Parts: sequence; C-alpha cells; structure tokens
Amino acid sequence: EAASKLSVPVADKGWKEGEPVPYAALVSTFEKIERTTKRLEILGILTQFLLVVAKRDTATEAKDSNLLKVVYLCINRLCPDYIGIELGIGESLLVKAIAESTGRATTKIKEDLRKEGDLGKVAMNSRNTQPTMFKPKPLTVPSVFQKLTDIAKASGNASQTKKVGIIKQLLSACQGDEAKFIVRSLEGKLRIGLADKTLVVALAHAIVLKGLGEKKVPHDKLAEMLERGAETIKAVYSELPNYDLVIPALMKGGIDGMRENCKLTPGVPLKPMLAKPTKAITEVLDRFEGKEFTCEYKYDGERAQVHLLDNGEIAVFSRNSENMSAKYPDLVEQIPRCIKEGVKSFVIDAEAVAYDLETKRLLPFQDLSRRKRKDVRTEDITVRVHLFAFDLLYLNGESLLTRPLKERRELLRQYFQPVESEFAFAKSSDGSTTDEIQAFLEESVKDGCEGLMVKMLTTDASTYEPSRRSMNWLKLKKDYLSGVGDSLDLVVVGAYHGKGKRTAVYGAFLLACYDPDSENFQTICKIGTGFSEEVLSQFYDLLQPLEIEVVRGDVEVGGAKPDVWFEPKIVWEVLTADLSLSPVYTAAHGLVDSRGISLRFPRFIRVRDDKGADDATTAEQVAEFYQRQVTAGGKKGASSAADDFW
Ligand code: ATP
Repeated sequence: EAASKLSVPVADKGWKEGEPVPYAALVSTFEKIERTTKRLEILGILTQFLLVVAKRDTATEAKDSNLLKVVYLCINRLCPDYIGIELGIGESLLVKAIAESTGRATTKIKEDLRKEGDLGKVAMNSRNTQPTMFKPKPLTVPSVFQKLTDIAKASGNASQTKKVGIIKQLLSACQGDEAKFIVRSLEGKLRIGLADKTLVVALAHAIVLKGLGEKKVPHDKLAEMLERGAETIKAVYSELPNYDLVIPALMKGGIDGMRENCKLTPGVPLKPMLAKPTKAITEVLDRFEGKEFTCEYKYDGERAQVHLLDNGEIAVFSRNSENMSAKYPDLVEQIPRCIKEGVKSFVIDAEAVAYDLETKRLLPFQDLSRRKRKDVRTEDITVRVHLFAFDLLYLNGESLLTRPLKERRELLRQYFQPVESEFAFAKSSDGSTTDEIQAFLEESVKDGCEGLMVKMLTTDASTYEPSRRSMNWLKLKKDYLSGVGDSLDLVVVGAYHGKGKRTAVYGAFLLACYDPDSENFQTICKIGTGFSEEVLSQFYDLLQPLEIEVVRGDVEVGGAKPDVWFEPKIVWEVLTADLSLSPVYTAAHGLVDSRGISLRFPRFIRVRDDKGADDATTAEQVAEFYQRQVTAGGKKGASSAADDFW
C-alpha cells in the first residue's frame, strides 16, 4: 500500500546534484503534509522528497549532508537529543522579532495571534503585506539549519538581542510560506502532524528506492523490500539514535549492512525500555502465566543509563537521553569501584536513588530532586546517590540487547560487584504466586521503593526493547493500585486566579496530556485542591514567567476557560481516582468516544522536571487507562501497544 502511494509526484524545485536544497522545496513538502491527516499519504509525500534529496546529495561527510539537515528540520531538531542544543524560543521574543522585521506594532501582531492562534501564520501574513525593497537571496536548507543552530547556541548577556537579530535576518529572507515554518521551527514544533516514526520509515523507503535506481521490481517484492528496510532502520535507530552517524552510513552503504555498521555504541544513549502499568497482581499473573518472570524492586529515583566508553570516559544519561554526568560527578567517581577486572566498555541501565549514609536507608525521590542540576561540585553535595543496576545492555564491544534478560542479568552480576552504600543490583525475586508477589511488594515499600517491576525473564519476549513501552515489563505501584494503576504526567497549560486570600497567586490549574500524532496538547482536568499557600506561591513564581496572552494553537482547549494561559513546558505528576468521559475536556477524544476523557479527583504528586512537555502521558495512554477501567479484568486495554514509539 505504501508503495502505491509513491506515485504521488513531487514538485521538482529545480536544484541540481550537489547543490544545497532550497528551503522552499522543504516548505512545499511541509505544506503538502499539513494538508492531509492520512499517515500513508504523509509517508508517500515525505518518501518522495527524501528520495530526491538523497539522490542529489553528493556529500561524503555528515557536516555537508543536505539529507541530514532535511531530516533534522523535519523533526525540528538540530542534533541528537543527548547533545542538547534545542529550539523553543518564547513567544514574546518571537513577537518582538516579527514586529521588528515587518515594521508592524507588537500590539497588532498579538491581535492577529489572538485571532489566528498560530504565530507561524501571523508571521507569514505579516510578511506578505510588507513591500519588498530588494530581493534577498533565497533560503536554503543548510543556511536555515545554520541560522537556527546559531540561535539555539546563542548564550550570555546579549543573547536575546543576538537571537532577535538572527531571527530578523531569517524572516526578511523568507518568501511565500517560509516564514510560517521558520517561526514554528523556532517555537519548537512544526505542527504538520509528522510523527518521528513516520520520518524513520520514509527515510528507509527513500534509501531502498534510491538503491534500486531505475531497476524495476514486482510490486510485492518492492513492498517487502520497503518493509524490511523500515524494520532495519527502526532497529538501528533505536540502538543508535543519532542521525549524524546513521545517515552517512545509509548514504554510503544503503540498507544492507546497517545492522553491522550502526550498533549500540557507548557514548550514544539509547532510548530506554518502558513499562506498562497494572492495577492488580492478578493482572500480572494473567500476563505472565506459565512464563518465567522476575519481580524487581521499583526504586524511587531517577533513571540513569551509565556508559563506559572505550577511552575510559564514564557518562551518565537520563531517561530523556540528557547527559547527566555534570549533575552526578559523585556517581561518575563511584562507578569504577563496582567494575570487576576485564571490563573495558559497557552500558548499564539503572536507577539513581537518594541515600542516607547514616541510617543506610533509601530516601524518596523528593530528596533527589533537591540536588542541583548544574555546576555541581562533589564537595558541595549533600544528597548522596546510590545506584541500583537492573540491566546490562552492552559489554566489551558487544550489544546484549537481543539476549534474554536472564543472561544479561547473569553477566551483570558476573562483571560488576556491589559496593556498600554506592552500588547494588536491583533486588529481585523470581517467586511466582500471588502471595509471593504480594509479600515482595510489601517488602519493597518497607524498604523505600514505589513497588515492583515485573519482567519476562527468558525467551525472545525478554530481550531489551529500546524506546518501547512493553508488555514484557509491568509496573506494580503499591500506592496506585487503588486508582487507575499509575500516575499521569500532565502539562500545565493554564491557570485560574485564586479567590479570597489567594488572589495574588493562581488557585487552580488546567492540565493537558499530549497527542504525539497531532502534536497537540489536550485538556484533561482542572486541579485546585490540596495545595498549601506556600506551594501555590512557589508555583506562581515558576509559572508566571510562562504566561502568554493567547492560548497556543496546539492546545485543544475544549470548553475549559482558565484565566491565564501558559507556554506548555511544566510537567506535573498527578494521581486520579478514576477517569470519566467529559463534555468539557478534549483528552483522547475520538479514541474511545467522540468526547474527551477527564480525571476525577485529580491530586498533585510532584513536579516532573526530568520530563519535557512532549514526554507527558499521551492521549493513547489516557484512552488505555480509561478502557482498562471499563473492561472487566482489565485484559483488553492492557494488551494494546498503543503508545509504543513505533
Ligand atoms: P513512564 O510513566 O513514562 O512509564 P516514568 O519515568 O514515569 O515513566 P515509571 O512509569 O514510574 O517511570 O516506571 C518506570 C521507571 O521506573 C523507569 O524509567 C526507572 O526509572 C524506574 N525503575 C526503578 N526500578 C526499576 C527496575 N528495577 N527496573 C526498571 N525500571 C526501574
């Protein structure tokens, strides 16, 4: 089916082999994608474009590759996640730059924004009404990429002025619809409904087709080749999420040999495997009945993927692939003590937990979050961390991802050693009756953990699945069993003024989940009870700078009417008694019902500063929670793989 869509003709924007791709060609592709919501059509349009780009790209190095830059602009990133150069310019700065570059008053821009709900469109329309005095040089993909990088990297005192300066340059060179996408890129989201996973598949298809050249192959054979190509790139990119490495390798050798050439590499964090929530031990047993599985303590800290590179360097990455080595200099210093002889390189998956050296007890996540995130000096550290390793993904030059967990765990225990108050293996129990699991669950909570992780131990179902929320890992959180089985991580998109004594602060907040397919935030509940005065005042300080005058166009508001809107940035972990269909909120609308879903009696748990707005609980997950609640026994909903990355 995908192959038949490939006949969609692509506008040839007339650049030649070896020349930079005109930005206009990329923008016309974005426009086409924006006009449809059909995934296959989007895939076809993008494949065609990437194919043309790949065919004409003569670069031999990553830094010169047009294909690489096109891919980055499609996913609105400038480098691999773990390097952390990010876009996401605040609305007020953009309004200022648009006003200055078009000579319009900021009040007019804001007025338009209120009507339009999309600063990109406002920029495009503002630009179109400007008389052009001279024709600037057309933008190219490499020139836009470079300017965006300069903006993202600008730092120091004059950085705001510098950023506005570059944005103005970019905007004044825009033609046609280009300003719309420049501004959206700067905001951090393209909003054309292009999911990252579609890009991976389109890239694979383009490379397969490029490899075929003029050769004709039967339709079914082509479909098979495309499918195999996509599977290969998905697998490769999961292990090595770095297009700087993957794309040059693809351009050089095609799909064949990718699995050999691009493998899990210490220094490049892979996207962690995630777990599905469960509401009861019986649900765990239903899933794992007759299989060999293990229960591990679910430690209440921060995920830490620890890498030892061939050059002896140690790096610690967060759940979001952020390099945390500077936050955890103590951890980096501790690690060598737990490594046995003969270990030259590794990647372990672990949890870093706050630890009280005197009582030798684990401390809750709140204590860990008191640690500074930047410029940490070992001598200033007051909150110690203890590492609990639960998986070994790579050892001495070899990826272990496809080995069964049992084997990975044996190797972990063989090559590493516990160090008192610093390093241990996650406590586990392979018992398999309800009573045994219940007892182990109680014990984990007594020891300061959140509950258990239950994992498939043997067979193919126990391989490590990067970036996947897998049914082969289940979480059993003690406190949440009475609710929907898990907490939700939601984005604060608006607030309501406080009443009475609380007029100086916000009294309640509007929360939203995230729908990665539409790239929209969908409102899910108002939360306002249970906050102390002190907490409300802290939240005011945190959120007030994020206030915006007009709700962002990527927030599906529904009937909610908060007094102020925010840039969607802050994520809160929230608990709920249950979920219900709602005429007001939009969360997961269209997935189980035309109405949205809302949380009943939501309760704030904590700020999740390790999660960005895009990592919030997804619409699919909300739908799954709802379905599990209505389906007796919870089997139907729980078996859906709705929110897998792929
Ligand atoms: P999400 O809600 O997206 O699944 P999360 O970061 O909120 O992710 P949880 O759902 O609470 O996390 O549970 C998974 C997390 O539990 C892991 O990311 C890891 O940080 C932590 N964890 C603690 N102990 C273990 C363990 N033994 N095995 C795997 N993960 C563990």
